[in-house]
This record gives sequence, C-alpha cells and structure tokens, in this order.
Amino acid sequence: MPTTSPVPDVPLVVVGSANVDLVVRVERRPLPGETVRGGDLAVHPGGKGANQAVAAARLGGRVTLLAQIGDDPHGELITRALRDADVDFPELPHRDRPTGTAMIVVGPEGDNSIVVSPGANARLSPRDIAEHRERLFAARVLSLQLEIPLATVTAAVRAAGPGTRVVLNPSPPADLPTEVLTRCDPLVLNQHEARYLSGSDATPEAAAEALLTRGPRSVVITLGAEGALVAEGDGTITRVPGVRVPVVDTTGAGDAFTAALAWRLSEGEGIVAAVRYAVRIGAEAVSATGAQSLSPRGRAIAAAGA
Ligand code: ATP
Repeated sequence: MPTTSPVPDVPLVVVGSANVDLVVRVERRPLPGETVRGGDLAVHPGGKGANQAVAAARLGGRVTLLAQIGDDPHGELITRALRDADVDFPELPHRDRPTGTAMIVVGPEGDNSIVVSPGANARLSPRDIAEHRERLFAARVLSLQLEIPLATVTAAVRAAGPGTRVVLNPSPPADLPTEVLTRCDPLVLNQHEARYLSGSDATPEAAAEALLTRGPRSVVITLGAEGALVAEGDGTITRVPGVRVPVVDTTGAGDAFTAALAWRLSEGEGIVAAVRYAVRIGAEAVSATGAQSLSPRGRAIAAAGA
C-alpha cells in the first residue's frame, strides 16, 4: 500500500535497531546458580540504529529512523530520546513484542558481558520498508546495521533510489548477499568485523583490499585509537590518524563514527574528508559516557566544521 502522507525531505534515513540498555556494575560476575550484588541500575536508550540516528541528529543532520519498539515503558523511553534529539521517528504498526533490551554487566576492569534480547527489533519487516519506500527512494544516504533481520536490510537496499548512497555497518558480523554488498559505499566496519568478513588476519589494508573484491564501492575500517582507513573503489587507500583523548567509555564510539560519516556524506562531502570528521567525533564519543551521549564538545567541533 503506498503511503498517502507527503514524503518529508529527509536526507539521512537510518533503518535499524532500538534497544534499552540495562547496565549494572559488579565486583565479580556470578557463577552459574549464584547471585551477586551489583551497583545501581542505569537505564540508557541504545541499539545501533537509534544510537546512529540520535548522534547524526545531534551533529545537525535531519534524520529519519525506521525501527520497531514495543508498546511498553522502554519503548516510551526510546521515543522520548528520539524526539528530544529531533529524530523523525514514524510509528510502525505491530507493537506486539517487547522493546529490545541489552542487559549489560560491567566488571571491575570495565569489561562488559552482554545479553541481547532483540524483541521488537526482530519484528522490523520488509513490509515496514514497503510502507516507507518513498522515503528510502528519496534519501541521500541510507544507513544500515545488522541488529534487524537480514531480509529487512535487503528490502531497504532494494528500496533505495539510484541516487541513494548506502552506508552499511555489518555489526553483528554476518555474511551479506552480493546485492547488498555491491550497493555499500562504504561498508564501514571495525577490525574484528573486517577480519570476520574478509577472512584475513593480515593488515587492515589487506583486509580492505580483500573486502573490495567482494563488491562494495568503498570500505572504511575503524582502528580504535589509531583512527580509520579508507579504501576507495579505484584502489586508493588512505589512513586517517586518530585523535588523542582521555578515554572515559568506548561504548558507542563506532556508532558515533558511522553517524558522523553518514551525515557528512549526506551533506555531499567526499569520503576521505567525511572519515576525517568521523574520527574526531568517534574520539569525542570515547571521552563521554553512555552510548547516545555525544558530548557538547563534540557538537562544538561539529559546529566548527571538520
Ligand atoms: P565500539 O564497538 O566500542 O562502539 P568499534 O569497535 O565499532 O567501537 P572502534 O574502531 O573502536 O570501533 O572506534 C571507532 C572510532 O572511534 C575510531 O575510528 C576512532 O575515531 C574513535 N576511537 C575509538 N577508540 C578511541 C580511542 N581510544 N581514542 C581516540 N579515538 C578512539
């Protein structure tokens, strides 16, 4: 059924997950059958799709998020966070599963153990994409991750217009169909995902070259504190050095990076300049706490330009 409402002129459309992160710190993890006492519960909106949508909107982008949430208090929390960030978040039908949840136990060394319950994220369907296909067709950039069904990712890529640039972060890593891979410009991934998808344990440059042979038009590999690497379709490889910052919390650095990259690409910037900017925003994200907490300084950098 075609939508009857006018299609908003939104340059960046994110199709992805929305979760609530439930975080507790512990002195040590419980053994099977054991109970341990933890610190106070912290509840943050999260999920890669929502994180990227909020980060891009806070940087100044006009962003639509297509995501499924439940008809429950966690869904309301996510909706409020998205509205506060001015993300366009159209309501989708079928709110019959609980909102996705990530239960995160943080150990004494800051090491995370996470149980993810996808809940409503598993409900985001090709039919939801069909309902909003005009938005996707008109988008300048479509940003995707893999915390939703692969059939939905594929449907979103099919709905993208000829002028839509597809940015895909294959996280959690999974094998992708060729029709999806060949639309990625870029495929943006961290070193762990690059190793998984390229099958190469060698340098990031070798992994990027191996990945390019699989079809993406460009590849961006994030290198943590070392910055990122861009491999373009013509074989040019550019290393963008990292920015040295005091590290508070690395949660969501990759999402902030991808959001900044997708936003700058939607503004028509070239890929190397967009990655330089994204490296700075990734660094800002590690010097703040919470997956959606891009610091005011990050916004100040955004306002000042790359
Ligand atoms: P995460 O899973 O923690 O969200 P990721 O593994 O997907 O992150 P990374 O390569 O670790 O991705 O980081 C993404 C970007 O964040 C880097 O390209 C860089 O710009 C920035 N970054 C990450 N860690 C650091 C750090 N220690 N110092 C400075 N910048 C960092």
